[in-house]
Amino acid sequence: MSISQEDRALLEAVRRGDAAAWTRLIDEYQGRLLRFAQTRVPQSADAEDIVQDTFASFVKAVHTLQIETSVETYLFGILRNAIVNRVRTRWARTVCLIQDVYHGNETDVSDDVLASLSSADPSVSWCVSHQEQHGLQRQILAQALQGLIRDLQEAGKLRDLKVAELVFYCQLAGKEAARLLQMDEGLVRVVKHRCLKSIREAVAASDAIRDLSVSFSEDMLTEVWAAERLSCPKRSTLGAFLLESLSPEWFDYVDFHLTTLGCHFCRASFKDLQEQQTNEQHTHFRQQILNSTIGLLSDDM
Ligand SMILES: [Zn+2]
Repeated sequence: MSISQEDRALLEAVRRGDAAAWTRLIDEYQGRLLRFAQTRVPQSADAEDIVQDTFASFVKAVHTLQIETSVETYLFGILRNAIVNRVRTRWARTVCLIQDVYHGNETDVSDDVLASLSSADPSVSWCVSHQEQHGLQRQILAQALQGLIRDLQEAGKLRDLKVAELVFYCQLAGKEAARLLQMDEGLVRVVKHRCLKSIREAVAASDAIRDLSVSFSEDMLTEVWAAERLSCPKRSTLGAFLLESLSPEWFDYVDFHLTTLGCHFCRASFKDLQEQQTNEQHTHFRQQILNSTIGLLSDDM
């Protein structure tokens, strides 16, 4: 995981106190953050406050913060914590969960995830503060998961990726995942075990692990997946989805991620993109009218 050149340049400019860069950063992310906040807090004004606070926290910490993935992921992390802190109700605790409906039936949650690695830590909460996300365990696990996801994406194994998202990210029981994907339950189990094997091997191969006793719980796996948004499509992919210019396989996958999985982060980004497109259309149309009427205006004068 490393931050992109663009993000690094933007961040450096903000650190230098470049007002134009800061404006650009706000302009880039305000829409998707607001859309996300609006789905999680009942009052629209509260959502705006929280997004403002998020940018304030970001800029206050800009000289010390260590961004390992992207500015977007970092901002969403601050926002998520801000919502949890602001709205102290039970449902707000689920803010980082992908689709609340999947977590209604606790007895369905499988308990054998990472069994051979696991020493389940019940104190690991779903929502950790963003400072805590930099722990070594999470880093190792995040790298292992990222490797798995990248391999599946590059090999075009999008069906397996869907299975992984449902069983690890959503902690859905195999039976339920099979039903949603219209797959054989046995096949879901096979895919799940193949994924776990790959994660285990990647963790075992990690250099850092030799000197430390590292244990993972299934909650940590899910938490890392959600916090780092490991399988979320890129913004450009969401844009291509909006324009329907993706291959049928990827179109189907993104549709699954947005609709079946119901990823709150991506849904917020997607709504923002849709709105931007409308704005662009509006501006484009206005320009078109102007171009065709400006001559008439001059004639009159
Ligand atoms: Zn997503």
